[in-house]
Amino acid sequence: MLAITSGYPHVLFRLVIRNGTIVDGSGGDPYEADLAVVDGKIAAIGGNIPKGTQEIDARGKLVTPGFVDVHTHYDAQVTWSDRLAPSSWNGATTVLFGNCGVGFAPCTKTSTTC
Ligand SMILES: [Zn+2]
Repeated sequence: MLAITSGYPHVLFRLVIRNGTIVDGSGGDPYEADLAVVDGKIAAIGGNIPKGTQEIDARGKLVTPGFVDVHTHYDAQVTWSDRLAPSSWNGATTVLFGNCGVGFAPCTKTSTTC
């Protein structure tokens, strides 16, 4: 956990998620806190975080790191989808594919059938 709880008089947070229940993946107990994001990375967790450009009220919701979906069949879908649903709908930020016999490999630069 980033133990930052106060003292940001001049920091502009792009995104602040308030009142969520943080499950940080460390194995520790969940806890309620605010979380700030700068440049796509968690910059602060705690209280007294100044207002962000965007604010999300996560009261009653979990705030977690992304999940890894280790078994998907996106081998073809990855070529037309920028969301890879439904994994992205469920919080997955990383997916593995090509490990289930569905893949199109081997595929070369000169192949016309893959
Ligand atoms: Zn499979």
